Amino acid sequence: GATIGILGGGQLGRMLSVAASRLGFQCHIYEPGAAPPAGHVAARVTTAPYNDLDALRAFAQSVDVITYEFENVPTASLDALEAIRPIRPNRRALAVSQERIAEKDFLTGLGLSTAPYARVTDLATLNAAIERIGTPAILKTTRLGYDGKGQARIMTPADAPAAWEAMNGAEAVLEGFIDFSHEVSVIAARGLDGSVACYDPGENVHRAGILHTTTLPARLSPGQRTDAVLIAARILNALDYVGVLGVELFVTPQGQTGGLIVNEIAPRVHNSGHWTQAGCAVDQFEQHIRAIAGWPLGDGTRYADVVMENLIGDDVAQVPDLARERNTQIHLYGKAEVKPGRKMGHVNRVIRGLT
Ligand code: ATP
Ligand code: MG
Ligand code: MG
Repeated sequence: GATIGILGGGQLGRMLSVAASRLGFQCHIYEPGAAPPAGHVAARVTTAPYNDLDALRAFAQSVDVITYEFENVPTASLDALEAIRPIRPNRRALAVSQERIAEKDFLTGLGLSTAPYARVTDLATLNAAIERIGTPAILKTTRLGYDGKGQARIMTPADAPAAWEAMNGAEAVLEGFIDFSHEVSVIAARGLDGSVACYDPGENVHRAGILHTTTLPARLSPGQRTDAVLIAARILNALDYVGVLGVELFVTPQGQTGGLIVNEIAPRVHNSGHWTQAGCAVDQFEQHIRAIAGWPLGDGTRYADVVMENLIGDDVAQVPDLARERNTQIHLYGKAEVKPGRKMGHVNRVIRGLT
């Protein structure tokens, strides 16, 4: 059978590997860290840094197609890989989502709404940005942020020096604070033939900057539901995208596209799409493998109401109790060490039939 190469061996790589093996593929994981969660299920693991071009070339030679769960692979490494095998989703999808300003320029270029934003390179540009955008606002590093890391809230202009300090000299973007009522995300896929399949939007609640729960169905009007799908499809087509994409949205009473404002996109399977494992015939992981392997997509129809809850840090101690809940699907990532803020697993509670 064919072999799928996956950059990154965390829980997303692990669940992609499970789905791939179910479809008869083998997986080769490339991961710098020791004992990656995906290592338990993949046929092969290369342990090497993301800038080791020789190791990357050998990895590419050993697979038929390359995908990723980690989007911050250096450009030179991607060049070396792409010279040997196709990377799906493509380089442009990566470039756009690696850098928050490129991402917002791309989204606004499509006519989609984002928070107002301005590039910040020092305290002077931050003060000028605050003057233009106002407060409250959020300062974020343009690269490498996740789970709310690399962010500082600015409630009044007096907070500017401390916020700039918190960036540690990294280039940043100031975003106007969106007064949203709630957050939703759309998980969508595009196949090699250009067909698109969308999952129902889920409603997301964060705790300390980390996704805590995703609830299906989300509170959205029928019009907003359509808008969410149109936004995702527009992004997929514009990028000639192949694979699964996550789109995080703020829901506001007012605004273009029925009050939906795009927060950020992720060019991969997404934590807020884990509910599809219990709610759909073809989950986001199988959908991604189907797309990058050139198979037809599953249709994404939802068959149940679901609440996905992340098990973060010590939450994992609840597993014996969770195991007694008969309609709760448990996913553990096989991480040896429990750390605060570390995603150890998740559960999908199937609430009942379809609302
Ligand atoms: P992820 O783990 O989702 O990649 P991240 O570190 O990239 O997270 P963001 O998604 O940008 O961070 O922000 C995390 C959360 O902070 C958002 O889900 C939202 O709750 C809040 N937030 C971010 N930007 C804004 C904004 N402009 N206005 C209001 N709230 C915001
Ligand atoms: Mg992010
Ligand atoms: Mg986010």
